[in-house]
Amino acid sequence: MDGYMGKLLAVDLSSGEIQDELLNMEYAHQFIGGSGLAARYLYDLLDPGLEPLHPANPLLFVTGPLTGTRAPLYGRHVVCARSPLTGIWNESHAGGFVGAELRFAGYDGIIIRGRSPKPVCLWVQDGKAELRDAGHLWGKDTFETQAIVKEELGDPRVRVACIGPAGENQVLLANIIHDHARAAGRGGMGAVMGSKNLKAVAVRGHGRIPVADEERFKELARQVIEILKDDFMSDMLHETGTACAMEQLSYLGSLPSRYYTQGVFEGVETLSGGFMADTILTGTSACYGCVVGCGRKVTVSEGRYTFPEIDGPEYETICGLGTTLLIDDLAAVSWLGHLCDGYGMDTMSAGSTIGFAHYLFQEGIIGPQDTGGLTLQWGDPDTVVELLGQMAHKKGFGALLSEGSRRLGQRFGVEELAVQVKGLEVAYHDPRALSAMALVYSTSPIGASHNHSDMYWVEVGRSLEEMGIPFTDRLEDAGKGPLVARHQDWRSVTNALIVCAFNNAPAQYHADLLNAATGRQETLDSLLHIGERIWNLKRAFNHRLGLTRADDKLPQLLLQPLSEGGTQGHVPDLELMLREYYEARDWDPDTGKPSREKLLSLGLEEMAGDLWGLGQ
Ligand code: SF4
Repeated sequence: MDGYMGKLLAVDLSSGEIQDELLNMEYAHQFIGGSGLAARYLYDLLDPGLEPLHPANPLLFVTGPLTGTRAPLYGRHVVCARSPLTGIWNESHAGGFVGAELRFAGYDGIIIRGRSPKPVCLWVQDGKAELRDAGHLWGKDTFETQAIVKEELGDPRVRVACIGPAGENQVLLANIIHDHARAAGRGGMGAVMGSKNLKAVAVRGHGRIPVADEERFKELARQVIEILKDDFMSDMLHETGTACAMEQLSYLGSLPSRYYTQGVFEGVETLSGGFMADTILTGTSACYGCVVGCGRKVTVSEGRYTFPEIDGPEYETICGLGTTLLIDDLAAVSWLGHLCDGYGMDTMSAGSTIGFAHYLFQEGIIGPQDTGGLTLQWGDPDTVVELLGQMAHKKGFGALLSEGSRRLGQRFGVEELAVQVKGLEVAYHDPRALSAMALVYSTSPIGASHNHSDMYWVEVGRSLEEMGIPFTDRLEDAGKGPLVARHQDWRSVTNALIVCAFNNAPAQYHADLLNAATGRQETLDSLLHIGERIWNLKRAFNHRLGLTRADDKLPQLLLQPLSEGGTQGHVPDLELMLREYYEARDWDPDTGKPSREKLLSLGLEEMAGDLWGLGQ
């Protein structure tokens, strides 16, 4: 099938063996690519009995059939493995140029198994690959690592995905950084890389991507570019970044602050994308093939935190390291984000876990005797600088924080207070203000992620009418179940394609582009069917790992009404929503498992057998 390079690179770090493997085209047909394809592969490859950081567990870098083509905002890749943070399925999507470069090098993805006896860098170039010694890179931060690898390979256009000290130390919040500060951020994929002694993956290619109908594809891509150039939201993202709507979100009460005990942040004006544009913004950046360019470059030359141009924070980072901790100094938040990027640590989970520690300290549940003498006060970036360093190096109190908020809560007997679902820290869209997010967080296959359904956009007016997902009242709970399920199915498709969520072109364009690239004949309905298949596959994957109905829940703090702001005291009725949701999904209300009939109707016979036994 056109659109695919037709092969994967299979690397065994234990033996040093590297070989090409033909892409399973049946899987590509059923699951498209990206995290859909990765989930199908990992279902085969994973031994559920092994711990997530066991060397035999695979780590996958996967692209989609449009990655690296001229289709705009299709330059992404995804990193997948069993998460050491949550213990379940994980997919960590990333922008930048690595995905496109991998395809130019001739591969749809990389499957990495085993553990190298010493630190190595995997170097992939135009259909060839080798393992290079990386002993001299061990201990270096992600910025130095990228620079040194490029220098050694003698080509500044080499793309380097690497870990920093956090990944080396197998910090459970460790991520993988590439293209300066782009991140495969969530779920501890950097720890998986570190556990394999894999410091970096460097990629360079010059090949062509086969497209079935070049002329039609070119014309469709041109039309999408024109649409995005005229799109108000795209303009906003370019001018003010992903923090473009912070004031509005605060007004609605959906801006988690003071560790989710406020939905409104008084200092929001000094953290917003508009404020950044007016003060410290010195440039923008874009991923491969992107005409939007939501990335920020910032420079600060005066004040407590000064730095030459660095990558500026996006919305989730501003919340994690700003509003959550009541830090309203944008320079400080930018610097904290930069530290996380250098250490190779997820800004969202790191900020949330530090926020949880602050909350416990302020509530008197922990004290200086637990924190190594540190006083945890809201609005104190200096202490956060110290904690981030401790976390990355697993030192002092930071060693506890480096395991995430669920384990921190368990350590002090207050797990129920940690704002996490299935072990993943909750993203920064409060379900008390945007009720659909209650279902999104409680049922997402990786824990409380917003990347598996950004229904908050729908609830503030960006409906998807052509997908049958209309605008709905953000404080209404009834009726959300079927809509969220449908939205998740669509996001499963876009995460398989893989396209940036900020590509605002009508959905039909994505189907048309896929068809023109591959020669398929998909409609929106057939794509939704594939999305549903992918969603249920990931659910089956997690049930095989021990997930139960009881894991579909929200943390206690998110079920307490907020006294101020736009939530109007609303608390989502999660039980009602889950009932509707299970019914819409045809999932068993007692166990949460997809019904046998549902799995069979989606062509998931193997999963039906695994979950329900043969012939029942
Ligand atoms: S909109 Fe932002 S995240 Fe999306 S592709 Fe463009 S630069 Fe990357």
